[in-house]
Amino acid sequence: MNAPVPPVQSRAEDLVRRFAEVYGAEPDGVWRAPGRVNLIGEHTDYNNGFVLPFAIDRSALVAVRLRRPGSEPDFEREAEADVVRVASTYAPDGEELSRARFSIGGLEPGGVGGWAAYPAGVVYAMVHSSGAAVPGFDLLLDSTVPVGAGLSSSHAVEVAVAVALNELLELGLDRPRMARLTQYAENEFVGAPTGIMDQSASLMGQEGSALFLDCRSLDSETVPLPLARHGLEMLVIDTRVVHSHADGGYSARRSSCERGAAALGAASLREVPAGTSLDVLDDETRRRVRHVLGENERVLQVVRQLRADDVGGIGNLLTASHASLRDDFEVSCPELDQAVDAALAAGALGARMTGGGFGGSAIALIRRDDEERVSAAVLAAFAARGFREPALFTVLPADGAGRVRLTWSRGE
Ligand code: ADP
Ligand code: MG
Repeated sequence: MNAPVPPVQSRAEDLVRRFAEVYGAEPDGVWRAPGRVNLIGEHTDYNNGFVLPFAIDRSALVAVRLRRPGSEPDFEREAEADVVRVASTYAPDGEELSRARFSIGGLEPGGVGGWAAYPAGVVYAMVHSSGAAVPGFDLLLDSTVPVGAGLSSSHAVEVAVAVALNELLELGLDRPRMARLTQYAENEFVGAPTGIMDQSASLMGQEGSALFLDCRSLDSETVPLPLARHGLEMLVIDTRVVHSHADGGYSARRSSCERGAAALGAASLREVPAGTSLDVLDDETRRRVRHVLGENERVLQVVRQLRADDVGGIGNLLTASHASLRDDFEVSCPELDQAVDAALAAGALGARMTGGGFGGSAIALIRRDDEERVSAAVLAAFAARGFREPALFTVLPADGAGRVRLTWSRGE
């Protein structure tokens, strides 16, 4: 099992100290943005459908200090007014920090490589889609969202930067607006064709709740997900594999869905009326479409059950979602199937792959008392098949992004 993550307060205090060492000045503040788990609603977002993610108690923290022309200590003698310096504690082996810099005036899509593309993309989106005047700044990042596990570590970074700059520059952007802004950053600057779900969860999550999001209208509502009160938790099983066909598989599935909608005379699969016969479709397209239509129904059913406080009862729907993703949509892989099967056999109430598939993480809804047993069973099953050891940890639904109030007294 992974070590428990330290509380946000102490992480934030460490980050402030570290910031002063790195940049020679105190930050203006610290902001937090969580990763997310998608409870159910997989491959429905780009079909204008329903998703039900929740923000998790693992987050990116950024300490930020705006550059104030004229009043700078001129650290490194290069502190031009529109230069952004970024550093992250997530660094290659043997290095303490991963550092980068860019100048705001010179930003253009694809022009910043590596992880700095995410903060740079947010700045670019603020300048180009919101007309904001953004000065240079220094930023230090520390995140407990595992990278590449399908828990949206990248959106945690983007959202943390967005809420920090929104507040420091008094831009007055509301949460839905910031969700679209970070989507613009990913689509236009980073060049990833991602949707609106991940950043919406990171921005609008609430402790003990999931976020029911309609990807057609972008309307969202919180739905109670009181896992702790029911003695439950969500076990994340990060398989730590990404299969090489993940990108191609994703775009092939998108095209299948578009073809299916067109053949059924609908603008998107969301517009296909319930009960429509899928017989006109070829076998593969029919199975792809059947997954999406069934998955939208399952999301609505989970929402109804959660509203009726039947939290344990959603387990079967999670498992049905996995079967559909495995058999009809064909985006699972042996490691994800093994994680789900082993968790269910050891007593999980439900389990499914989460995220795009072909690797990444599975989730299992478990009773708190079963954590050791289910974890041990998953580890044993992976070892028996010669799979890489997965990373296991539990998450609970947490609050969306915001400023971290530092309660310590400075100068101690
Ligand atoms: P995920 O599913 O975790 O979002 P992505 O491939 O979309 O996977 O995003 C991972 C990328 O996000 C990393 O390769 C890195 O560029 C960036 N990233 C995430 N967390 C951090 C961090 N703590 N420090 C630096 N970069 C990060
Ligand atoms: Mg990502």
